[in-house]
Amino acid sequence: MHDDSSWSPETLAVAAGRPPRTPDAPVNPALELTSTFVASTAPGARGYARFANPTWEALEEVLALLEAAQPASGGGARAFASGMAAVSAVLEQVPVGGLVIAPEGAYNTTLGLLDHLEAKGRLRQRRVQPADTAAVEAALEGTSPGDLLWLESPTNPLLEVADLPALCAAARAAGVRTAVDNTFATPLVQQPLELGADVVVHSVTKYLAGHSDVVLGAVVARDPELLAELTRHRTLAGSIPGPFEAWLALRGVRTLHLRVERSQASAAELARRLSTHAAVARVRHPSLPSDPGHERAKAQMRGFGSVVSVEVRGGAAAATAVQDGVRLWLPATSLGGVESLVERRRRHPLEPVVVPEELLRLSVGVEGVEDLWADLDAALTASQR
Ligand SMILES: *Cc1c(COP(=O)(O)O)cnc(C)c1O
Repeated sequence: MHDDSSWSPETLAVAAGRPPRTPDAPVNPALELTSTFVASTAPGARGYARFANPTWEALEEVLALLEAAQPASGGGARAFASGMAAVSAVLEQVPVGGLVIAPEGAYNTTLGLLDHLEAKGRLRQRRVQPADTAAVEAALEGTSPGDLLWLESPTNPLLEVADLPALCAAARAAGVRTAVDNTFATPLVQQPLELGADVVVHSVTKYLAGHSDVVLGAVVARDPELLAELTRHRTLAGSIPGPFEAWLALRGVRTLHLRVERSQASAAELARRLSTHAAVARVRHPSLPSDPGHERAKAQMRGFGSVVSVEVRGGAAAATAVQDGVRLWLPATSLGGVESLVERRRRHPLEPVVVPEELLRLSVGVEGVEDLWADLDAALTASQR
């Protein structure tokens, strides 16, 4: 067997999702480029490539194991065309007029989609500060079954840490499902299903694929009925991944643990140095003992993630000067790739107003940490002139 659930996540990332071990078989799943399959009456036959594709299934097998979805009991993962397609599939489960409790500050397009759906009368929302457990619990009062608690932890880009065990339990007690966007942590650092969530969403585009060459998403759930509904949505709405993207993402997942280990270590080191830099007013990273999310992250995560946010002294202009002044860091949106990226988030009109104008989001990659520091230090210092 290649998916022994007793293996460590590191081993699963490498060993799961491979073809059967038969003499002279390939060691990697094939890239299956086909739109249809030869007709079959066998149970579970794929039939047509909007329904299923073996290349997606290899990736999904690995993601299900990494997120502890309990595949033996009917849980699993489903790949989607993008992270947002995965977010949409989960929001689509909310009945018409249902309530979604969502963070004030989170991935801007998720919040943008919620606003869009609310404006169309599709659903209602209640925005909360996700690190304020009492506020989220209060927002859960008077909810109905079918309503949804949407969490992201740590949040993009404020790196706020929600108390996932407490909030998932409160939602469950209220009869409401919890969805957690686990893009920032990755399943190696945090397993929301183990902490009580009903469904996990990933932008596979980021750490899982890891090389800034793929746009892809995924959902993961333990409840077979919920998983079937999400799969039905994917088939009906057509938000399916391309086989090549799924193949590339699985190739990326093979080294996820190595990339995360290095980038997390570098992120913590850079956060420590940035916190005493004269050009920096505030550093946000849960690795810092002074960070509001530090204790919570220690309790529910294995590490602190590889995104660091900094507020540059001198406002938006100084932050933009840093983004324009770096030579190794790439000024670009996105995160989770091997290459380090820096971006002033408020340059996006959709970015929530709780994100400071002078905030730079740093996605720490796997380059040499001294080179990253030297480049950032120089650009920060120059921004103050
Ligand atoms: C990027 C991102 C998404 C959206 O994913 P896409 O693959 O770009 O559609 C969702 N959530 C978070 C936290 C993200 O960073």
